[in-house]
Amino acid sequence: METYSGKVAVITGGASGIGRGIALELARRGADVVIADVHEQRLAETGAELEALGGGVLAQRCDVTSDADVEELRDAAIDRFGQVDLLCNNAGVSVLGPPEAVPIEDYQWIMDVNVLGIVRGVRTFVPAMLERGSGYVLNTASIAGVWAYTWDAAPYITSKFAAYGYTEVLARRLRPHGVGVSVLCPGLVATNLGETARFSGIPDGEHADWIYFPPELADAVQPEQVGVQVADAMLAGRFAIFTHDRDEQHYKSWRSDIDASMGSIIEHQKTPPRSAGRA
Ligand code: NAD
Repeated sequence: METYSGKVAVITGGASGIGRGIALELARRGADVVIADVHEQRLAETGAELEALGGGVLAQRCDVTSDADVEELRDAAIDRFGQVDLLCNNAGVSVLGPPEAVPIEDYQWIMDVNVLGIVRGVRTFVPAMLERGSGYVLNTASIAGVWAYTWDAAPYITSKFAAYGYTEVLARRLRPHGVGVSVLCPGLVATNLGETARFSGIPDGEHADWIYFPPELADAVQPEQVGVQVADAMLAGRFAIFTHDRDEQHYKSWRSDIDASMGSIIEHQKTPPRSAGRA
């Protein structure tokens, strides 16, 4: 992809946070944008912000856990703009809690949104890209998709490793046929993700014991800045897009000696409680 001018981008989770940041930046660079989300109020607000930039905009309610909604999204985008050049599978949620105590239903929910939401997007939009021999898919994973940055977020980390692995496969599958693929691996970004987060399997009164976000990772960046990073990185054809240089370096050193990295991170972390209810 050499330019966004005249391209059509679909962004799930586009009403808020990182998706909104990407939508605004692509619109500033001349793309028509379709934002898809379940949050109807933010969908309208972000849609209005995008319209003010002057390009074509469609703001569509779409739940990425619904096959029918994702198919309707594709049909609406094609009706309005003719084709879709860039698909950003970005909608996501978070579940935190002790891995052995989080109910299966919460694991199923997060996998349905964060993993199968991406799969639905690919199944629905990519066949036309393959037929044309052009297009681009950006999937939002996380640094949580490349190493376990904590022990309090097993469902989230599991979903993001799956999103990362699936996207690696997509690159091998699609790039030979002219369809670009990138995976976004943000560190902390100041968004509304906390609003939909589920803290699950944690006994009353033990919340603080079971939550651990490593303080050295707490330097949040703004979603608008992420939008610029993503737009630049896709033009450069980068596969893994990190928002913090430190995370990219950490990932590389982590992989260079996995046993030593695992030992060191356990030595330096806050120790998790032994068991829920009897900590
Ligand atoms: P956000 O909550 O601000 O935005 C996510 C959007 O996705 C929301 O508008 C929400 O309504 C929407 N959404 C949730 N479930 C949906 C569904 N079933 N169908 C359609 N839309 C749905 O949060 P964000 O941080 O911008 O999250 C965007 C992506 O970035 C997520 O995949 C998240 O896991 C990932 N991420 C965020 C951070 C961070 O620090 N904020 C770090 C790494 C990765």
